[in-house]
Amino acid sequence: MPLTAALRNQFEAHAPFALTLDVADPLRAARDEFFIPSGPDGHPVVYLCGNSLGLQPRAVHAAIHKHLDDWARLAVESHFHGHDPWKLYHKAFAEPLARLAGAKPVEVVAMNGLTVNLHLLMTSFYRPTGRRTKIVIEDTAFPSDSYAVASQARLHGLDPATTILRLKPRPGEHTLHTEDILATIREHGPDLALVMLGAVNYLTGQWFDMPAITAAAHDAGAIVGWDCAHAIGNVPLKLHDINADFAVWCSYKYLNSGPGAIAGAFVHERHARSFELPRLAGWWGHDEATRFKMGPDFSPSIGADGWQIANPPIFSAVPLRVSLDLFDRFGIAALREKSIKLTAYAQWWIEHLNHRAAQSAASSGGPPAITILTPSDPSRRGCQLSLTVAQDPRAFHSALNAAGVMCDFREPNVVRIAPTPLYNSYHDIYRFGHTLANHLHLQP
Ligand SMILES: *Cc1c(COP(=O)(O)O)cnc(C)c1O
Repeated sequence: MPLTAALRNQFEAHAPFALTLDVADPLRAARDEFFIPSGPDGHPVVYLCGNSLGLQPRAVHAAIHKHLDDWARLAVESHFHGHDPWKLYHKAFAEPLARLAGAKPVEVVAMNGLTVNLHLLMTSFYRPTGRRTKIVIEDTAFPSDSYAVASQARLHGLDPATTILRLKPRPGEHTLHTEDILATIREHGPDLALVMLGAVNYLTGQWFDMPAITAAAHDAGAIVGWDCAHAIGNVPLKLHDINADFAVWCSYKYLNSGPGAIAGAFVHERHARSFELPRLAGWWGHDEATRFKMGPDFSPSIGADGWQIANPPIFSAVPLRVSLDLFDRFGIAALREKSIKLTAYAQWWIEHLNHRAAQSAASSGGPPAITILTPSDPSRRGCQLSLTVAQDPRAFHSALNAAGVMCDFREPNVVRIAPTPLYNSYHDIYRFGHTLANHLHLQP
């Protein structure tokens, strides 16, 4: 298999080349802000699981301890007089989250878990009426999203089997064509209530054409929600400008905020005062000015804040603050630029080794040793590459992990690698490539 023309001459297969890129990397200081686990040989692993659980920022420890101290010393008074009072704690998320979501501060909020937020926003925005009942998702949607939409359909007395439309790739393909998605939306237009896709698909790493899909779904009269679990902190988002109705995300993947960290949600400004929408209410969504008057009638806050229910879990929110400070310090634009290059280097290694394998007589004519499912166009993907291997994918995955290259395996045969620009280096990708070469018995 020939190397993609755009990649052919950009990269080289030896360590000094990768180290030179690292020295020139304007973001190289970011890596020092994270704990990197040690591998079997005692050296830092090549951590390619940032799409699953981001690494711990070093500053998290001290930040949590400050809040533990406040709790110990001031107890309930910490709501008002702590070093960072809990009563207003969630408000500090609005600006930095807005920068990552491509939103206005009034449009975003940190709360709950992703799937919880999906349910809360579908309660408001999935309003099946007449024939307009259907929900479009990807066939390879994350299971939780499939369960959520099916259970929402049932809540409305609808049969998920006829209510949920799953977008399938063309035969023999793994990712979706934008034109096919748009055609499905047009074809089912009058029946569509909601189009709800993963902005970056968790399995294939495909970044959908969010502006085109949002516009087509709106033309068809549907509401558009985006699951940004694999997109936020990975690719620059423009949720406001593309006119999405709502979006949700979690914070433990590319936002590095730890297991079960407080998640996020976006509600477009045009719905900020849609107080007539049904919603599941709780005191934290009540208008701030009168929240503590403790009256019996709910009067929602303007904007995304109005979808909050309970007071936020401070200890799962603190790491998000630390992490968002890092995003602000290094900037999503610069991170994206590095991300494109890191992932291109990983792709280069795979194509380079496939080329080597094809040159060796034994395997000529066979399928490539490694197939990349993810689109090769950088504007159609984030940092992740999803791979399948011709032979024994589990052994391939085990070999990478045994060599200190941490990546994950998704049934039935997909190995996902996610070079993350905050803490992965070009030398990490060199080690990844070298490990691949060893496993495939090829000369790097
Ligand atoms: C990770 C992920 C989830 C996980 O949801 P939680 O409610 O945070 O456990 C849901 N959907 C997608 C697309 C994901 O990638």
